Amino acid sequence: MRLNRQMNAGDIAREIAWSRREFLRGAAAVVAGGATTSFARAHTSVARNRQKAVVVTFGGGARDEETFAPDGQENIPNLVQTLFPQSTFYAQVINRGILGHYVATASLATGVYETFNNFAAVSPHNPTVFEYFRKDLRRRATDAWVVAPSNGFNRIGESDHRLYGAGLGAGVILPKHLLAAALPSQGLGNYEHLLRDNYEAPFNTPALAGNEVEMERLHHLLKLSVTDFSAHARSLASPDELSVYIARRLMRELAPSLLWVTLHDIDIAHSGAYSLYIDGIRRSDRLCADIWKTIQSDPEYAGKTTMFILPDFGRDADTDPGGNGFQHHRTGDPLSRTTWMMVMGPGIRQGVVIDRPVESIDLVPTLGSLLGFSARLAHGTPLVEVVS
Ligand SMILES: [Zn+2]
Repeated sequence: MRLNRQMNAGDIAREIAWSRREFLRGAAAVVAGGATTSFARAHTSVARNRQKAVVVTFGGGARDEETFAPDGQENIPNLVQTLFPQSTFYAQVINRGILGHYVATASLATGVYETFNNFAAVSPHNPTVFEYFRKDLRRRATDAWVVAPSNGFNRIGESDHRLYGAGLGAGVILPKHLLAAALPSQGLGNYEHLLRDNYEAPFNTPALAGNEVEMERLHHLLKLSVTDFSAHARSLASPDELSVYIARRLMRELAPSLLWVTLHDIDIAHSGAYSLYIDGIRRSDRLCADIWKTIQSDPEYAGKTTMFILPDFGRDADTDPGGNGFQHHRTGDPLSRTTWMMVMGPGIRQGVVIDRPVESIDLVPTLGSLLGFSARLAHGTPLVEVVS
């Protein structure tokens, strides 16, 4: 995409959205005979109390060059050819918050731009979607779960808000942390590729606390022994594969109505290794399709589950002369703030691109309208194309 230096941030975001529409129009015309123009309304009217939602976020988005642009589409065949034709695609999702992965994901989960230090061990200050869901709908603790990449996310399931908070949040599973805990006697050598915790400096590991689930409880909940867990982990290529393995196990054993999975492999881009960044994109693309397939094949989920896929934010053009254009997200430029979202499930229009600007914080109120709870303190707005 050629961006004119005179353009303001809004113009650039609009240009990005327009390009994505054109890219997808081209791809869909080849794949689905021009499904972008169809407003096919899928089967609707799933009773609200049976509705489920699965949210998949990427910690660290990717540039369009490696994804939706014509030359990038070979890296995301599942998103473009399989999932897009079934989805409503928001081409211009603006994140106006802090571009650090924990704080940004917490903002996605509260519907308010959280302002705490990304590297601090703190809970979100505004109620999370899990608390609204459980309190309003009187759901038990096992009905809302988060599977997240690293130790910094251990508090994402529950805010410190005085009207919500303690005892109302989601269970949080940090598969990498569980694996590390399961391994001391066997050594970490064979698992190092699964345990890398953070791709950015400053690297630190906040003290663990919050709703994080320990191995013993996981064994009980997921019927997964330490031995089986570590043996299976050995067959996996990356931390995100480990996360999706756990997410599927959760779906099979507990069938939570609200499941949030945060992927993080793409963020290896910070290392500057282009091939690893591409591998991360391809793996994320495949894992999204795997999750959708699991939803379709599980009677607890099929026909009553809405899936949302969105990066927490984008990557920037990196104005640092030493930068290579795909590596970071530190300039706060429109490229790093303008991301996208795919929504699919019963009642969702298929193969539709929405150009108008929406915000990352619209996700939680949208989930509220879909599932029937009030995200009363969230700042976003329900997305009319999804909820009406
Ligand atoms: Zn990052």
